Amino acid sequence: MKYFKIALHWQIIFALIPASVFGILYPTKYKITYDSYEKIAKDAPKYSISEQCVSHLQIFRSKEPHSESQFLAEIKKECPIFLEYEKKEFLLKNARYNPILSYVEWMGELFLRLLKMIIVPLILTSIISGTAGIGANGNLGRIGLKTIIYYLITSGLAIVVGLFLVNLIKPGMGTEIGLTESAGQIEFTETSFADSLMQIVPENIFKAFAMQEMLSIIAFSMLFGYFISRVGRKSREFLTDFFSSAFDVMMKITTFIIKFAPVGIFAIIAKTVADQAGDPEKLLLLVQGMGKFAAVVVGGLAIHALITLPFILKIFSRVKPFKHFRAVQAALLTAFSTRSSAAALSLTMESVENKSGVSNKISGFTLPFGATINMNGTVLYECVAAIFIAQAYGIDLPLNEQIIIFLSALLVSIGSAGVPMASLLMISIVLSAVDLPLEGIGLILAIDPILDMFRTSVNVWSDSCCAVVVAKSEGETLKIQ
Ligand code: ASP
Repeated sequence: MKYFKIALHWQIIFALIPASVFGILYPTKYKITYDSYEKIAKDAPKYSISEQCVSHLQIFRSKEPHSESQFLAEIKKECPIFLEYEKKEFLLKNARYNPILSYVEWMGELFLRLLKMIIVPLILTSIISGTAGIGANGNLGRIGLKTIIYYLITSGLAIVVGLFLVNLIKPGMGTEIGLTESAGQIEFTETSFADSLMQIVPENIFKAFAMQEMLSIIAFSMLFGYFISRVGRKSREFLTDFFSSAFDVMMKITTFIIKFAPVGIFAIIAKTVADQAGDPEKLLLLVQGMGKFAAVVVGGLAIHALITLPFILKIFSRVKPFKHFRAVQAALLTAFSTRSSAAALSLTMESVENKSGVSNKISGFTLPFGATINMNGTVLYECVAAIFIAQAYGIDLPLNEQIIIFLSALLVSIGSAGVPMASLLMISIVLSAVDLPLEGIGLILAIDPILDMFRTSVNVWSDSCCAVVVAKSEGETLKIQ
């Protein structure tokens, strides 16, 4: 039976409206219930929260739910340690109180779990079958090199736009340093670039699978795929068929998961909006204090996504950028709401192959690789954030220091995972490269989740453009010409 079918991206866009209304109608509040008290008391030692503070929370058990800032203000009077970011997040996570939202929240979590479930098998089968195919005609080096050159050039351009805007607008000048949030217990990463390189080679590949260490999984899959093309004919044919059939199955599972996208995204956005709507004062203060910084980041991301990348598509690939944009819309919306390029990967692959027409050989190789190492939005954000922090501390960074920021952001983005708020930890490396105080991260903590939505969409948009550029340079005919 033929039935009226609404395109997926429209379904998602339609879901966003009721999701926002839902979030506004049922804002999240905070309250210590019997259950949450038990949970906090159990895990408090892990966060070095004293027994005295935990028992102090008992007082709040009978109280009405409060907005985030009222709730924290009361608790912090007796226990100022909850000013520290990790402790505060732990407390808020357990004290969230939104009984109505919990009826839909699980749908978002289920959708995210499905997306995460498919990441490792999808990367494994797509890269192995992609590399086996490319390796057989001796093209692997060429396609790999083109991919890396694309990543370096576009990341470089994104950073230049970010640096230009942040130096022009100077959003950090005059920002109150009395840090509202203390970065406190955030585990700052001490990994050097050499360490990140070393992590590419796993000591134990099964551990890498279990821990979702993407760089290691990609490196192993590339080696495996390449050497499939180097073994005897019988094994080669068997393994190539096996992995490409397994990949087909993964794509079928992806298509199945995608059907849940509108419902899953509805729930994720309802939760995001509800969490913000619970405390309009906080939102207002945030916009007043961080408005300029957010505008520079979003403005920079917009220039990169709407001018630079379409220009590259037009000049190097002679395709219609807007047609490609429409083809990958559902993936971009998924990236926006999940704040994870890894979670959006399955949708990106499906859209780039089925709607833009890039061959599985190219997209199966460039997209998983890109979701891990190509992060145009992230590098732009890291540079702008570092300079913003310097400005807020009244430090005028000379050009050579800004070049160090440029290079460290570029290298660090390779090691960042495509997961929510990955940048936050990576910024610590960029800041220490130019001796800026790590506590400065406290300035951007509150606004980070919102900006994460925008930069993740740009990361995914750039990955999808890379697949197109490489496919065209290999002589493929696409559906977006
Ligand atoms: N959330 C981003 C991503 O998944 C990474 C980041 O935090 O910048 O692409």
